[in-house]
Amino acid sequence: MYEEIIEKIKERLAVKNLNVVIIPHISPDGDAAGSCSALWQVLDKVGINAQLMTCDYIPDYLKWLKRIPDAISFQNRQKECKQWLRKADVLFMLDHNTIAREGDLEPFVREFKGETIMIDHHPDPDEVTYRISDTSVSSTCELLYNVISGIWGKEIIDTDIANAIYAGISTDTGGLSHNSSHPETYRVIADLLALGLDKDYVHEQLYQRNTLSRLRLTGNCLLNKLTIDEHFPVAVIPITLQELDVYNYKDGDLEGLVNIPLSIEEILVSVQITERKDKVKLSFRSKGNIPVNLWAKEYFNGGGHLNAAGGQMPLPLNDVVQKVRETSEWFFKQLKIEN
Ligand code: 5GP
Ligand code: MN
Repeated sequence: MYEEIIEKIKERLAVKNLNVVIIPHISPDGDAAGSCSALWQVLDKVGINAQLMTCDYIPDYLKWLKRIPDAISFQNRQKECKQWLRKADVLFMLDHNTIAREGDLEPFVREFKGETIMIDHHPDPDEVTYRISDTSVSSTCELLYNVISGIWGKEIIDTDIANAIYAGISTDTGGLSHNSSHPETYRVIADLLALGLDKDYVHEQLYQRNTLSRLRLTGNCLLNKLTIDEHFPVAVIPITLQELDVYNYKDGDLEGLVNIPLSIEEILVSVQITERKDKVKLSFRSKGNIPVNLWAKEYFNGGGHLNAAGGQMPLPLNDVVQKVRETSEWFFKQLKIEN
């Protein structure tokens, strides 16, 4: 499907002495970090000079991915980030559909003079020089597997690269529970296994590294914070900054929490509303064909996928919780109109 564009990217990357920048989205998750790790390792192998940069920080729970500890952040290494953006010939945008998802890097990336290659699976992608965007795949990593195989041949993929690609597929599908009904996803995983994927190691790194404080935070949220809307099948979990502090919160500690209420049979939508220093962050999850990205986009400055979306609001936590309650009716009315 992408043969032609992959061929063009191959030609572009064949030029000698290239400088390449790789950028994931703000608050990088497993798919963003996994795709960046895999691509950087491949570029290392073929001798292309590259640098991974982030607008914030990659969470500690993803630091086991090869090359991820070498990323530079705009938060503490602004000068280097700007220098790289000035000298780079090619920029890879991974796991995001718009420069607006690059946080503080956005204004500098907008001035970037080289060519941009997007590999992503979110709806409504920006215009870029070379775009490989497909909302039907499980993850950016699945798509990246095809790009890497198309350009360099799949034999370039070793255990560390396979682990990074699989980490993205696994985390973006909730451990192959959602967004993973296409046979192609499993063909990619089968290839990765044949190429040396250490699946048990990846699972251990991603899912078997709880801390006591993380378990307690999850427990507190489920016991004391989770509420169910009176009129609509919506679960809401509001979390204050103070609670995060009490439970010694680290990036990644809330990963997966928002999915848990969906295991209640009658719940169709789960919303986690988390207070941050400068804003309130929302995470939406849904079952079946309920498009929570519509809700996030209409009222919460966000967007995302059908079953997993997010947004943010510059309002106090309680006001955002209230807004979710007040707009539920609008959202469920839209579903009726659509059906
Ligand atoms: P999460 O709940 O894991 O933060 O985000 C789930 C998905 O929603 C992400 O993969 C991303 O596609 C989307 N998303 C999260 N936050 C935002 C946001 O602020 N704006 C947009 N457009 N999409 C978001
Ligand atoms: Mn993704």
